[in-house]
Amino acid sequence: MKMAGAEKRKTGQRKRRLAVARRPVYSVGCGFDAHRLVAGRPLVLGGVTIPFDRGLEGHSDADVLIHALCDAILGAIGAGDIGRHFPDTDPQYKGISSVVLLEQVAALARDGGWKIVNADVTVILQRPKIAPHIPAMIERLGAALGADVALSIKGKTTEGMGFTGTGEGVAAMAVALAMRP
Ligand SMILES: [Zn+2]
Repeated sequence: MKMAGAEKRKTGQRKRRLAVARRPVYSVGCGFDAHRLVAGRPLVLGGVTIPFDRGLEGHSDADVLIHALCDAILGAIGAGDIGRHFPDTDPQYKGISSVVLLEQVAALARDGGWKIVNADVTVILQRPKIAPHIPAMIERLGAALGADVALSIKGKTTEGMGFTGTGEGVAAMAVALAMRP
């Protein structure tokens, strides 16, 4: 049977619509965080305690790297931000390891049908050097996120400028890519 012109066009449109619906969705998110460096606290970055004379101040362990990463993932999956999920007024998050928060964010992504493809984090601080600790951080974060997530962590100074340069605080920025097959 021969299809009439209009019929053929309709079939073509239907096929195109199906192809669009089946296409995987990619979504990127960015995150930023900053915490004050103070005496009498351990310095925890990327789930790793780094020997230093000061540490980050905050309600949880103040792991600025993980907080920026959580916000990037939450942004990519359209789920708000870390403050909404883990309010710093909630006593259950006092002193908590931020790795636990990252695990919860990863579970939220999984439940929403998302796969985290990769994440790239830059930590901005003058001292101490974080490079020797990056392999341990990647291992720790990989265990929380799933080993198939490609992770990259970089340390950067601001050449003595601004609050990170003077050692008043540490900042971190992150980007994450999520995919829904
Ligand atoms: Zn934070």
